[in-house]
Amino acid sequence: MQSVAKTSYAEVAVPLHVFQTFTYRLSAEQSMKAKVGARVVVPLGRTEVTAYIVGLQDELPQTLTETDIKEAQTLVDSDPVCNPEILELARWVADYYACPLGEVIKAALPPGMSPKSRGAVFAKPKLRRFVRIRQPLNSDDEKLGDAQRRALATLKSGPMPLQLLLKTAGVSAATITTLEKKALVEVTTEAVRRDPLSDGLGIKSETHTLTAPQASVLTQIEQQMNSGDYAAFLLHGVTGSGKTEIYMRAMSKALSLGRSSMMLVPEIALTPVFSRRLRARFGDQVAIFHSSLQKGERFDEWTRVKNGDARVVIGTRSAVFAPVKNLGLIVVDEEHESSYRQQESPYYNARDVAIVRAQKESATVVLGSATPSLESFHNASKGKYTLVNLPERIGARPMATAKIIDMRGVFARHGKPRVFSDELLEAIRDTRERGEQSIILLNRRGYSSFILCRSCGETVQCPNCDVTLTYHRSERVIVCHYCNHREAVPHVCPSCGKKYIYYVGEGTEQLEEMLRLLFPALRVARIDRDTTTRRKVFEQTLTDFSAGRIDALVGTQMLAKGHDFPNVTLVGVVSVDVGLALPDFRAAERTFQLITQVAGRAGRGDRPGRVLIQTYHPYHYALRHACAQDYETFYEEELRYRQNHSYPPFVALASLLVHGPDLGRVRSDSLELRKQLDAANAERKCRVLGPAPAPFARLKGEHRFQLLIKSRSRKHLREIADAALKAVADGGMNLRTINLEIDPVSIM
Ligand code: ADP
Ligand code: ZN
Repeated sequence: MQSVAKTSYAEVAVPLHVFQTFTYRLSAEQSMKAKVGARVVVPLGRTEVTAYIVGLQDELPQTLTETDIKEAQTLVDSDPVCNPEILELARWVADYYACPLGEVIKAALPPGMSPKSRGAVFAKPKLRRFVRIRQPLNSDDEKLGDAQRRALATLKSGPMPLQLLLKTAGVSAATITTLEKKALVEVTTEAVRRDPLSDGLGIKSETHTLTAPQASVLTQIEQQMNSGDYAAFLLHGVTGSGKTEIYMRAMSKALSLGRSSMMLVPEIALTPVFSRRLRARFGDQVAIFHSSLQKGERFDEWTRVKNGDARVVIGTRSAVFAPVKNLGLIVVDEEHESSYRQQESPYYNARDVAIVRAQKESATVVLGSATPSLESFHNASKGKYTLVNLPERIGARPMATAKIIDMRGVFARHGKPRVFSDELLEAIRDTRERGEQSIILLNRRGYSSFILCRSCGETVQCPNCDVTLTYHRSERVIVCHYCNHREAVPHVCPSCGKKYIYYVGEGTEQLEEMLRLLFPALRVARIDRDTTTRRKVFEQTLTDFSAGRIDALVGTQMLAKGHDFPNVTLVGVVSVDVGLALPDFRAAERTFQLITQVAGRAGRGDRPGRVLIQTYHPYHYALRHACAQDYETFYEEELRYRQNHSYPPFVALASLLVHGPDLGRVRSDSLELRKQLDAANAERKCRVLGPAPAPFARLKGEHRFQLLIKSRSRKHLREIADAALKAVADGGMNLRTINLEIDPVSIM
């Protein structure tokens, strides 16, 4: 009797910026094996792509005919890579942020799992050959050579990786092959784990007795966790108030309830020390995800989570999609951080995805920050989140005193701009003399911000972007910080040919050099994106600073966050003016956060800390409230500003960026888009602004025009955005030239 094998149809999402899904025919054999959430290689246009199965049907959808559709090629997985919960979450993200489902699924999986071309390798387990004894050693019965005996003797203590065995026993691979033939040993291939924390520093797990405020916060969170329902907390705790201890206890609580937990951190707070501390506390149950892990390491960590071997996940943005089973708790540390937002499609915000995931899985979510985002604090004041507070530092350590240094006065006294005020220099010297450490912050890497010709006034611009090139002295190049275009340093002005090249504006690299010249005995090091591309160097610098082998650490805002260096008593901010002047409605909020965070780095030990902030805008409200460490007054003032100017959280906001190489085209396309937005907005339920050149009007060789949509109704905002995009696409416009961002965190 013949079985009736039936073909079926798979709906797939492709890992590309393509909004629709596609349907393929599966062979009878494939139909039996295919599962939703598994990968399948399919033909698309003239190429092949690794796609994700998002639906399976027995019948061909009515909108299609058999001749329309192609056959799927290869099923990649027998087991889905994307479980139903993650697929559902991905669908929500695609829908809410108006981005392609395939792109979201790709972002949810470890890198390397969706290669574009055939022949490219998938991330896969690392295999190693192991050797073990098959029979009890009975060497008298066998005619064994010396080498064979040695190998067997070595194996007596247990199975061993092949390479290690060869080395230890001093035998060749041929010896082992012979033993294998004689059936005395067995050689197997096993997956070995690439463990990013294997070089652990042997950090001890410290548990503190909770302070009364900590205990009260933890009790509230734990009681909620006992109920097993969704709930969200906003933990507003000043820097050094012991939030981390609460996160760890809540994570233990989740484990004791038989549930898993997840902690999201912004990229830089993921200090090596902290992840190792988690490892010390939770052992092998911890899996770690962040971008400087190698592909193989990420794949292995992801696999351990998927198999249920790891039940505590710590990671950056994309870890929110980790296939954790039975999730009971999500912690989002430094919830205000803009790095939770992905800056390319799919434009999701991991904090907001965390909230939705917690709702779907009946988990508790804890958002923590010393400077909550306006949105989150607003949500808490409306009762959407439960606000819990830690208003004081552990051990009643005083908050650092912050002081503004008015650089206008410094300029007047010296008749020319100065990088360092005398006050800051003295403070650095005194700190060193007391055997304490300083952090010097400037949000601009490189040596000089630009090169100017004193003869003709020409600045050297990036050929691709509307920005000046930054001089990097150590590499002897000028670099674009947006597209990474590099060129040799000019000896003469590229415009007038004269030799009066002049370096203007200072970057971290120059600060480091100036400090070395001014204080030869001061041990200085630097941390910014130029130095952190090498993970080991970065970790080593932090370790050296921690151990007191460095007196002053110069760096960009990467330094402002998360680190806990008890001997740092001085933080100097060389300039906050660039940040304040950014054409973005969050400029004040960002500056407030930066100053507050950086002030939190000072005085975490027994000695009080000091913060000196140099600025030409000494009366700015963000600076004043940050110096007074008065979050609530800042919040109220900022909220009024947002209300008066109709910005979030009072309206929903979307931005549309039209980009392309041809200025005329970009301009006319953005005008057409505006026309369609107006047509869709006939009832005037939204406000449309623009098009206008974006703050960076040209980047990476492309011109950029921006439109904004504001509305009190998120639903209407989406309706008109979707309708306008559909209309311009029907009119022939390529949607890849338009970036739609829902809830943008910055509008530059
Ligand atoms: P936050 O995350 O709020 O900035 P941390 O969690 O880093 O603060 O805590 C600041 C310091 O206080 C850390 O060194 C931490 O080990 C310590 N700490 C936390 N809780 C306690 C406690 N209950 N008793 C003593 N020390 C504590
Ligand atoms: Zn550039």
